[in-house]
Amino acid sequence: MRRTELCSDLYMKKANKKRMNKILEEILIIIPFVLVLCILSRCIPNGTVRLNIGESGISEKAIALTFDDGPSGYTEELLDGLALYEARATFFVIGSKAEKNPEIVKRAYDDGHLIGNHTYSHIDFYKSTLTEIEENITKGSDVIEEITGSRPLFLRAPYGNVNFIQLKQLDSFFVHWSTSTYDWFKEEEDYIYKRIMKEAKDGAIILMHDTREATIKAVLRAIPELQEQGYELVRVDELLSRNGAKIKMGVPYRSCKYDRGAVAF
Ligand SMILES: [Zn+2]
Repeated sequence: MRRTELCSDLYMKKANKKRMNKILEEILIIIPFVLVLCILSRCIPNGTVRLNIGESGISEKAIALTFDDGPSGYTEELLDGLALYEARATFFVIGSKAEKNPEIVKRAYDDGHLIGNHTYSHIDFYKSTLTEIEENITKGSDVIEEITGSRPLFLRAPYGNVNFIQLKQLDSFFVHWSTSTYDWFKEEEDYIYKRIMKEAKDGAIILMHDTREATIKAVLRAIPELQEQGYELVRVDELLSRNGAKIKMGVPYRSCKYDRGAVAF
């Protein structure tokens, strides 16, 4: 009798252990699914927001020249040149610099160029929290709106540093680039000029900085030659909305082919 009780006790313990192991296994299987669902739920919302600028009437051969990190002491010379050649461009300005030189930003806006946000203090998204990034973007937009009366729609992440989750969490229209002139790396007029001419193709978004004298000289040399080749030099919003294409939030646009529309990757 005593022996039978012992056996039954042992059997119960074994059965309980088996049941616990099974529950643990099920929990371990469920956890990754819950995590994936959490990530996806944070990714979905802004993908549904679309911007429709409307038909921009831009030709089949167009390029967007973009200038980051200004305004600077060289920006006005660039604006003079753009006015001379009747070329339009996009300026992704740093809020703290715009605050110190509002008249340059206002002139660029009044001249018909697009003013985009490059954050208030050139914050690196990879080293910042979401709250810090959102505050920095908002502060940059506030400065631009104060100067131009118009809130910027487009954002370029400093260094191009923005990850997939941030792209989805930040309610912004992102503009990257198809071509870097590497003017931050090699401050030589000839080198920058050759980079522009070599990489010029329909739909290109060319990255430069209006903080360098060599860049201004190189681009003002390139502009009449590009126009000679039949390129229309336009703003990023005009390029991305060619053929009435709609632009989605949270997508890092890099170029816009006439026949394919905006290209993200
Ligand atoms: Zn920058």
